[in-house]
Amino acid sequence: MRPFTYARPETVEAAVREAARAGAASFIAGGTNLVDLMKADVLRPRHLVDISRLPLAAIEEREDGGLRLGALARNASTAYDERVRRRYPMLSKAILAGASAQLRNAATNGGNLLQRTRCYYFYDTATPCNKREPGSGCGAVDGVNRIHAILGASDRCIAVHPSDMCVALAALAATVQVTGPQGSRAIAFAEFHRLPGDTPEHDNNLRPGEIVTAIDLPKEGFAAHSTYLKVRDRASYAFALVSVAAALAIEGGTIRAARLALGGVAHKPWRDAEAESLAGKAPGEEAFRAAAKIVLRGARTYPHNEFKVELAERSIVRAFAEAARGSGA
Ligand code: SF4
Repeated sequence: MRPFTYARPETVEAAVREAARAGAASFIAGGTNLVDLMKADVLRPRHLVDISRLPLAAIEEREDGGLRLGALARNASTAYDERVRRRYPMLSKAILAGASAQLRNAATNGGNLLQRTRCYYFYDTATPCNKREPGSGCGAVDGVNRIHAILGASDRCIAVHPSDMCVALAALAATVQVTGPQGSRAIAFAEFHRLPGDTPEHDNNLRPGEIVTAIDLPKEGFAAHSTYLKVRDRASYAFALVSVAAALAIEGGTIRAARLALGGVAHKPWRDAEAESLAGKAPGEEAFRAAAKIVLRGARTYPHNEFKVELAERSIVRAFAEAARGSGA
């Protein structure tokens, strides 16, 4: 690990100022990803701004009937919060599908959004990686690409976003609150993460020096009919090959609204409005398989990840069927 300086401001404003004052600064909270990346010499911040003591850990009711998740609330506290479990069970399930109990106790909600890809080549500084070192090439395109993207990738990068929590947040259409040198703003969850395009070094649309302060959940939590399905190589402590957040609002035996987000398949949680157009249909396999075909219609595979297309289709049908049976089923 390389030498770095360290500061621990007490307010959001002071943290933003501190990051702007020093060049090559990184914010650190739970540190469950950043410290590993620093040890592996993948990231080399010269200044760490420790935001773990900022007053951003509360989970609070919102006036519009939604819930505000503090950026520094721990993943475990969020998943086990009684309001989250009851009103947003898909989110609770997604968080608990991620990492290990120890990591969930340390990792924060803001950090979950900002965690980096687990592409092997990103972590291996002996190999080319456009995300780690722009312009150096991509080790995965002609390498081992079993865990890589099938949707939205570019020739520069085929990495996937590793979060489970973010897939549920995408399906819920959450909003990310941020504060930076130019003030505070809200970012729709669908706009928060980026596709790689020509600049895979940028994972998200945060501006320099901005801190995630909260994640707002809308009132509609699809509590009665939703689920998170994660398919992985082993039963715990593994990243998703494919994951599905599926939610339905069902009235009188007919779908009123549907949400579908995929993890493990793209550089960001993947949603497709056309695939969610299930209103007026009966909640059954025919509708669910049609939605799966739509969302996967643009899939492009690489030599080792062709299996993901069928895996994703089957997972979508299964997740929607589970959701239709009821969140507690
Ligand atoms: Fe780097 Fe992306 Fe290629 Fe992985 S897929 S080696 S992260 S550029």
